[in-house]
Amino acid sequence: MDLLEYKGKQVLQRYDVPLAAGEPARTVDEAVAAAAGIGYPVVVKAQVKIGGRGKAGGIKLAGDAEAVREHAAAILGMDIRGHTVRELWIEQATDIASEYYAAVVFDRSAKSSLVMLSTQGGMDIEQVAAERPEALATLHVDPLVGFQPFHGRRLAFEAGVDGDVVRPVADMLATLYAAYTGEDATLIEINPLIITPDRRVVALDAKVTLDDNAAFRHPDHATLDDAGDADPQEQMAKERGLTYVKLDGDIGIFGNGAGLVMSTLDVVAHAGGAPANFLDAGGGAKAEAIAASVDVILSNPNVKAVLFNVFGGITRCDEVARGIIDAYGILEPTVPFVVRLDGTNDAEARKLLADANLPNVHAEATMDGAAARVVELARGGGSS
Ligand code: GDP
Ligand code: MN
Repeated sequence: MDLLEYKGKQVLQRYDVPLAAGEPARTVDEAVAAAAGIGYPVVVKAQVKIGGRGKAGGIKLAGDAEAVREHAAAILGMDIRGHTVRELWIEQATDIASEYYAAVVFDRSAKSSLVMLSTQGGMDIEQVAAERPEALATLHVDPLVGFQPFHGRRLAFEAGVDGDVVRPVADMLATLYAAYTGEDATLIEINPLIITPDRRVVALDAKVTLDDNAAFRHPDHATLDDAGDADPQEQMAKERGLTYVKLDGDIGIFGNGAGLVMSTLDVVAHAGGAPANFLDAGGGAKAEAIAASVDVILSNPNVKAVLFNVFGGITRCDEVARGIIDAYGILEPTVPFVVRLDGTNDAEARKLLADANLPNVHAEATMDGAAARVVELARGGGSS
């Protein structure tokens, strides 16, 4: 689960990570009230789960109530790279002498946690890593040893931070690592980590990702979720217990089993198409679950055709066929369906579909054939 900046900061605050005071706001009036409580100047910050808010005009300095009102009105409802701003974070403005970058991230390829520090903060860290790898100091943490004070100092020296802030920067890294392990996070990224003119170290931004698999250990994490800001299709899928991820293409995908769905996405891409979603209906999907899935897939207005790729193991293909026929009857789709069913009871399934004789439903025998067909149909070609 990715957290909005301010929720990430609320988590970091429990670990005494130095932050600027702030308050969330959902309306212009709330923003003005929050600013009055904090004291001017404040920074009005768009709360969306995407970077580059500054460049998009989603972060503004305000010296008085009038300016807060103006910026809050402009930023609320703003679209930042596909994310609508529904919430603001009003934060006490901080003077900046230097902008650094710090992160703790789970490095899957190394099977351990990685702490990173750079003096090239504020900008895109991938660019720093690619162009000036020496400017990014890194350290893998041995979980049995933990993150020790000397690790923090070593990183600070390697990154070349100003001599007088080596110790507070090292302390900051230690608190970030404590928050990371304490909350079962997979990412804590602070960009920028700033040094103020009076030489304090402050986390000015926070990107926190919590490990959903550890949610059972943290009942409080549920309150950090902001369902209201979720994508409507993803929200709908979650309510129905489906594993769904929205993608930016136009071909709806239905499959059973994560591996099969992932390879379906690849095969569709290979055939020149762009999947609109990942949807795993799971093993043993019954008719109702299929209707629920199709409903979610079709609620995405970008979808121009849907591919059903089902391998019947535990799942019986005839059940799936019945589900598709039921869903078709209820939802009356206006886009073509391509269906590839293979495995348990596939012959029966194909017969059910043939007998139903649904307009605009095309059966295909192979995965490659089905992918080619759905791509063609999504482009508006190849009527049966
Ligand atoms: P992002 O663009 O989405 O990563 O948002 P950030 O929270 O990182 O803010 C972007 C930039 O805005 C920072 O790098 C700072 O330069 C600037 N900024 C944010 N908060 C403050 C503040 O309190 N004071 C000043 N002077 N600049 C700020
Ligand atoms: Mn940032």
